[in-house]
Amino acid sequence: MTIPATSADATALLGVYARVGPLFVAGEGSELIAEDGTRYLDFVAGIAVNALGYNSPVIRDAVLRALDAGLIHVSNLYRTEPGERLAAELTKSLGGGGQAFFCNSGAEANEGAFKFARKWSKKTDIVAFSGSFHGRLFASLAATDRPDYRRPFEPLLTGVQIVPLGDVEAAQHAITADRTAAVIIEPVQGEGGVRPVPAEFLAFLRERSDACGCALIFDEVQCGLGRTGTLFASEQTGVTPDMYTLAKPLGGGLPMGAILVSDAIAAALAPGDHATTFGGGPFVATVSLDVVRTIAEPEFLAAVRAKGAWLGDRLRRLAATSARVREARGRGLMWGLELNEVAAPIVAAARERQLLVLTAGPSVIRIVPPLTVSREDLERGVTILEEVLA
Ligand SMILES: *Cc1c(COP(=O)(O)O)cnc(C)c1O
Repeated sequence: MTIPATSADATALLGVYARVGPLFVAGEGSELIAEDGTRYLDFVAGIAVNALGYNSPVIRDAVLRALDAGLIHVSNLYRTEPGERLAAELTKSLGGGGQAFFCNSGAEANEGAFKFARKWSKKTDIVAFSGSFHGRLFASLAATDRPDYRRPFEPLLTGVQIVPLGDVEAAQHAITADRTAAVIIEPVQGEGGVRPVPAEFLAFLRERSDACGCALIFDEVQCGLGRTGTLFASEQTGVTPDMYTLAKPLGGGLPMGAILVSDAIAAALAPGDHATTFGGGPFVATVSLDVVRTIAEPEFLAAVRAKGAWLGDRLRRLAATSARVREARGRGLMWGLELNEVAAPIVAAARERQLLVLTAGPSVIRIVPPLTVSREDLERGVTILEEVLA
C-alpha cells in the first residue's frame, strides 16, 4: 500500500529559514533540477557540503555498500569497522598520531572541542575572532561574531572573548596562561566574508597558545577537506593546531562532524567524558571514508587548485573592471566577491538566471561550487555573474 502523499508546503516547517526559489527535486553533477525541469548551476553546493557534486557515483556506491552490510546504526557502545577506518584515514592524513571523535555537525564539533580543551588545560575561557562563525549552540554561538544571531539568546556561555582578527596586540592581551582554555579560528573565514587569515597571524596564535598552555582549534568545518586545494586549509600556512573541527563535506551530504585531537589532548580524556548517540555510525562513516579518500587523492586536490587558480583570476579581473565589486578573496574553490553594495539582490538576480550563489555577510557574494565542478561550468557561472553585475 502506498500512503497518499501530502503536497509540499512550507507552512508546517518552523519559520527560522527564509527559503527562496523553486522546489528542487533532483541533482546531477554541479546542477540542481527544479520541479518544472529548470536546471540551476549550483555554486552553493548545499553550503560547501556537496564537494563531490550531485548524484556522485562515489557516494551512491558507498551508500549501497553500507545498506548491503545491514548496519545503519549500532551506537558507540560497540565497535564497528567503518568508523575505526575513517579515524585512521583522517589521522594518517595529518601525518599520523592524534585521534578522532565523530559527531553530527559543525557546531557540535566545536562544542566538543571546547570541552576537550577545558578538560586538558584545566582552564575555562575561550578566545575567538571578529568575523568568526562557529555554529549556533550556546558555546559555539558565544564564539560567533554575529550580534544579530546572539542577542535573542543571551546569556550565552560566559568567558568567551572576540578579538579583532589579525590584531596581534589584542590577541596577546586576551590569551592568558591563567584563564584561556582554547583559541578558535577558521584559517579561511567562511560566513564572515570569505577571509583567508594571514599565515603569520596563525603562527603567532600557535606560539601564544603554546606559551599559555591553551588549545589552538582550527575550525575547518567549511574551509577543510579539499575546499581550498589542500586537504586541510592550514597546510598552506605551515601551522598545525591542537584540534581540527570538520563537518560540512565530511559525510557526503549526510550529517557528520569530527574533532581531530592531538595525542596530548587525547591523553586527558577518558571514557564518559563526552559522547553522542549517533556520531560516526557505520552508515555515515562508510560514506565519509570514501568521500575523504576521494578528496585526499593528490590528483583530485591538484584539480581543485588548478580550477581554483583559474576562478580566482577571473574573479580578480571582474573585481578590477566592475565598479560594483571592491575585491575578490579566496583560496581554491572558496571565493568571496566583496561588493560596494548589499549582496542579497545580486544573489537573487543570479538565481533568476539559473545560477545559485550565496552571501557571506551583508556585502559579500560567496562562491563554493562542488569541488568536482568542470572548467566549463565555472566559466558559465562567472559569465552569469558578470552579466548580473554589468
Ligand atoms: C557551517 C559552519 C559551522 C556550523 O556547522 P553546522 O553543521 O551548521 O552546525 C561551524 N563552523 C564553520 C566554519 C562553519 O562554516
